Order: sequence, then structure tokens, then C-alpha cells
Amino acid sequence: MANSERVSVEVVVVGGGIIGLSIARQLAVRGVQVAVVEQTRIGTGASGAAAGMLAAQVETEEDGPFFDLQVESRRLWRKWAATLPDETGMQLGYREEGIYRIAESEQEARQLQERLAWQQKKGFGGAWLDRQALKAQLPGLCDDVYGALYVPDDHQLDAALAVEALRRSVVGHGGNVLEGAHVLGLLQNGSRVTGVQTVGGIISASAVVLAGGMSVPLLLRPLGYRLPLMPIRGTVCALYPHAPFLKRTLFGTGWYVTPKSDGRLIVGATQEEGANTREVPVGALVTILQRAGKMLPELQRLPFHSAWSGIRTGTADRLPVIGPVPGVDGLFVATGHFRNGILLAPVTGEVMAGYILNEAHPTLDVRPFLPERVLESGAES
Ligand SMILES: Cc1cc2nc3c(=O)[nH]c(=O)nc-3n(C[C@H](O)[C@H](O)[C@H](O)COP(=O)(O)OP(=O)(O)OC[C@H]3O[C@@H](n4cnc5c(N)ncnc54)[C@H](O)[C@@H]3O)c2cc1C
Repeated sequence: MANSERVSVEVVVVGGGIIGLSIARQLAVRGVQVAVVEQTRIGTGASGAAAGMLAAQVETEEDGPFFDLQVESRRLWRKWAATLPDETGMQLGYREEGIYRIAESEQEARQLQERLAWQQKKGFGGAWLDRQALKAQLPGLCDDVYGALYVPDDHQLDAALAVEALRRSVVGHGGNVLEGAHVLGLLQNGSRVTGVQTVGGIISASAVVLAGGMSVPLLLRPLGYRLPLMPIRGTVCALYPHAPFLKRTLFGTGWYVTPKSDGRLIVGATQEEGANTREVPVGALVTILQRAGKMLPELQRLPFHSAWSGIRTGTADRLPVIGPVPGVDGLFVATGHFRNGILLAPVTGEVMAGYILNEAHPTLDVRPFLPERVLESGAES
């Protein structure tokens, strides 16, 4: 786009992370003219840093609409993993081996068994492995384990590959993905949003979706809205075993180890609240490697490959924000996906496409994720 250019689409999505791209895809497959506008390159935010676990059951402590949202998204990923490779000519590194949630105390073992019980009651799979059964499957684990919840249906993928596949899918369905296009502000006519002002010019649209992670509040502020979000840095590293080392993901308290399709083992992750720069503190690396290395001592002998960090976006209740902005026609928000944004991308795309096209989701209760839960009015405009 040249500086003074003006283009027109039906929907503009601000932010080329996995959330923005999934929303754009679900609109594009329905024939909506959509443009994703990304300030740098797609996937350079949290999405490109993620470990790619689709841990709907393993990560959820209680039943409710958030659990339902996650398992629905996991179901959609399974579908997308089958269709996106044909659509885009690329694999997602999708792996179906399941995830172990390791118990590191008796109390944790009890809690995980309770979790398994309510999840099984709802019809989801899983098994409890006591210490002996677990050690028989994973002899490399230390003796200080109290069993594990094994969830066969919690899968994983390569987040960076998924981002690129979604970009191709959007473009393949007639959408646009503009990179290097920083959105400076929203355009309005009365109470209606009419597009966005980018560094390269104006994009007119009848709907705008703000999916820029931590930057969403900046674009809402001139409208008089405050959206309190917290940056939570995650530091991870990759090891590169010479021979296959681990088949399934291990997930513990404050650590995980997940084997990727390209041979790397990703070890994560810190949760550094308030940290909003993407540096890799040595202390953070030491912490995750010590935690994981204590549980899986052989890990300490593996060759180091690389380390990086990403900024998760968290709301106060750690639930995502998905839906229309009250009082501003045509404006929608999708942010706050914290540590589950890769998992939640398909369902967020589906729910948001429904809001924009006035179609209610047929099964899910998505009201708990509406923006009014967290939006505060009265910010300086
Ligand atoms: C270390 C780590 C590990 C993780 N592991 C997992 C995991 O295993 N499973 C899981 O489900 N989730 C995981 N997550 C969480 C997941 O990565 C995030 O929830 C998800 O990526 C959020 O996606 P997003 O599209 O909202 O944000 P982002 O990926 O941050 O994308 C937002 C995009 O908006 C762009 N943008 C911002 N402002 C503007 C503007 N004004 N104009 C144009 N563009 C703009 C940014 O450049 C950015 O590309 C992990 C996160 C981290 C950090």
C-alpha cells in the first residue's frame, strides 16, 4: 500500500497472529472479503513463540463454558489438521500421541484424579497411571512422581507452521494478508467504525476486529474505553536430541517438555507477570531447565538448540475476550488468550465469524467471554 492509498474490504482484522488469521480464515471461507493487517510479519508475536500444545483437558481444572470452548476448539483443530494440508500444501506438525500430566505430590495426584472423573463423566477420554504404571511407560522419569493423568486426545502442533498455513488458507480463499502495515487508529462515522488508518493509507471496512494481543487497548482508548491487560512473558528453549528421546508431551507444575515433528524438544515455560520485552533472561532458562531436568534427569545431557520468549496477553481472570464492543457498531475484539491461544484459535475464528455475520454459535455458551466483562468506560478520548 502506498502512503495515500485507500482500499475497501468488508472486514479488517488488525493483527496477524494465530487469532487474527483464524478469524480471517473463517470469514474468508464464508466468502467475506477480508484483510489481515499485521504491523511486522505474521506470527512474530506470541503465536510464533508458542509450544503448540492443544491441552484442553490437561490444562483445565474445572468444568464450565471455558472447558467447553477449549474442547470444541480441539475438535476443530483435528478437522483443520486434516483439511489445511490439502488446502495449503503444507503440514502443521500435528501429532496425536497425547499428553501426560505428571503429579508431583499426593495432593496433585488426588486433584488430577478428580479432574479425570468429571471429564470422563462428560464423555472425554483419559486414564490414571499410578507411579509404577507411569514408570513402566517412562523409565527416564525420576522416582519423585506420584502418577500421571494421561489424555490421549490432547494433541499438539507446530505453531509457526500453523500460522503460515492459516495465512495461505486466507489468501487461498480470496483474503488479503498485509505485512509491515501498522494500524495507527480506527476510523469512525458517528457511533460506527468505518475502517482503519495504517502507516500506508486507509482501509475502509464495515467491520473491524482488533486481534493485536497486548496492543488492543491502545486502539480502544480514543473511543473512551479502557481494557486492562497484563503482559506475561514466557521463556522457553529447544533441545535437539541426536536420537528420538520422548514420544509424548510431559506436562508438570511449572514445566513441560514437548517433542516436535522436526526433532526438537521444547522445554518450557516461565510465566513472568508484567514482563513485556522479548529478552531471554538467563535466570528464566535456568528455572525451566532445572524444573524439567529434575523430573527427567536425562534431559540434562541433551544438546542445547535455541531459546526465545514471547509475550502472552492476560486478563484479570485469565479468560479470553471475544465479541463486539458495546456502543460502537462494527467493532469487535479478540484478545486475552493467555496461555491457550493456539488451542483456542479455531473456535475464536468460528465464534467471531458468527458475531460478524449475526449467526449465534449452535452449541457453546460464549457470553462469559464478551468484552463487557472487562471493558471499562471513561478513559480519556
Ligand atoms: C512461550 C509461550 C508458549 C506458549 N505455548 C502455548 C501452547 O502450547 N498452547 C497454546 O494454546 N498457547 C500457547 N501459548 C499462548 C499463545 O501463544 C497465545 O495465546 C497466542 O499466540 C495469542 O495469539 P494472538 O494472535 O492473540 O497474539 P499474537 O500472536 O501476539 O499476535 C498479535 C499480532 O498483532 C500484531 N499487532 C499488534 N498491534 C498491531 C497494530 N497496531 N497494527 C498491526 N498489527 C498489530 C502483532 O505484531 C502480532 O503479530 C504460548 C505462549 C508463549 C509466549
